[in-house]
Amino acid sequence: MRSSGARELVALDRAHVWHPYGPMPGRTDPLVVESASGVRLRLAEPAHGQVELVDGMSSWWSAVHGYNHPVLNEAARGQLERMSHVMFGGLTHEPAVRLATRLVEITPEPLRHVFLCDSGSVSVEVAVKMCLQYWRSMGRPDKRRLLTWRGGYHGDTWQPMSVCDPEGGMHELWAGVLQRQVFADAPPAGHDAPFDPAYADHLRELVARHADELAAVIVEPVVQGAGGMRFHSPDYLRVLREACDEHDVLLVLDEIATGFGRTGRLFAAEHAGVSPDVMCLGKALTGGYLSMAATLCTEGVADGISRGEVPVLAHGPTFMGNPLAAAVACASIDLLLSQDWEQEVKRLETGLREGLAEAAGIDGVRDVRVLGGIGVVQLDRPVDMAAATEAAVREGVWLRPFRDLIYTMPPYVTSDEDLALITRAVRAAAAAA
Ligand code: PMP
Repeated sequence: MRSSGARELVALDRAHVWHPYGPMPGRTDPLVVESASGVRLRLAEPAHGQVELVDGMSSWWSAVHGYNHPVLNEAARGQLERMSHVMFGGLTHEPAVRLATRLVEITPEPLRHVFLCDSGSVSVEVAVKMCLQYWRSMGRPDKRRLLTWRGGYHGDTWQPMSVCDPEGGMHELWAGVLQRQVFADAPPAGHDAPFDPAYADHLRELVARHADELAAVIVEPVVQGAGGMRFHSPDYLRVLREACDEHDVLLVLDEIATGFGRTGRLFAAEHAGVSPDVMCLGKALTGGYLSMAATLCTEGVADGISRGEVPVLAHGPTFMGNPLAAAVACASIDLLLSQDWEQEVKRLETGLREGLAEAAGIDGVRDVRVLGGIGVVQLDRPVDMAAATEAAVREGVWLRPFRDLIYTMPPYVTSDEDLALITRAVRAAAAAA
């Protein structure tokens, strides 16, 4: 595309297009991406001297295999020629059945039933609906609140917003309108932090105190993502599992960001050896190619719902089970599991640790943390987003800092050289922010 074309696109974008958390029209011009291949985004016109940017974000945790991957392209092409979509009510098809079966195989043992929807937020909506409906069916309709811990993020639609961080979080505006949930303190920071018995008691006490009104506990296991990129010890998941079992509360694990290997285990729940009653997946499910998410539940939850006065889960989006997305998701999972992905994520972890260590010495840096394929630099003040983004782009890297955080979760296929470029860009962004 000629540069005048890119400028015209930006003008039209500013006039008509909403972006995530963006004002309309946008405060800063977005960069126009012309194509993407491997780990690189190709811009329609150079920005700060760069026409290609190494993607340090995997398009928000999703593009784990990079872009324009021949295997995923072939899966999409092959399915496109057969059927891109067909309604899922009363009909079924091979890609959806194959994907659901595969997900049951690879997720923790008792998960057996799969709801294929179209975004992470909707998969959380479905999870909540499953839990509330389960308790209604069990004759306990008062169990309809949720417990979570502060600092979390579960999506932008109505129920997920109610379990996002209530203070200083992205949905503070709606605090008085959303259903009031039960909030525990955020877990003590640090994946390797020593177990804090007082915090475990705090969790147990809250579950016990609210048990009569709690349908479920919902948390992000091991990494709280968009709420603050905090890591915590997996031990607290075990505490929650035990407390939920003791007090008749369901446990929902939101693995939308952490699923498919990002934390070094296929699912973050595996760090704790914990199985949830309900699990949400999204983002890397299709390798970032198409919009699809999934909510899995146990036989017990599905069976409970089917015994209710309304024996169906009343949810059925138009694009449920989309065959194109399901075919690509199957290919993406097979591709991931056909490789030594654990080794690749370990390689990223080592590269991120080495490359980000120096960031600790940058003025205003409060913390540097790495887990699996996730690297985070936290400042002691809000990031100047424009300055930090520009500094990364000058290094040839795409990052999307927010709040007080500059962070990266590169595609698993990122080479050591490109990883070094990314960590240099994170340091430059931190210094400029
Ligand atoms: N849960 C978690 C843990 C997430 O990170 C996100 C997305 N950032 C969501 C839910 C919502 O997913 P989506 O953006 O696909 O609606």
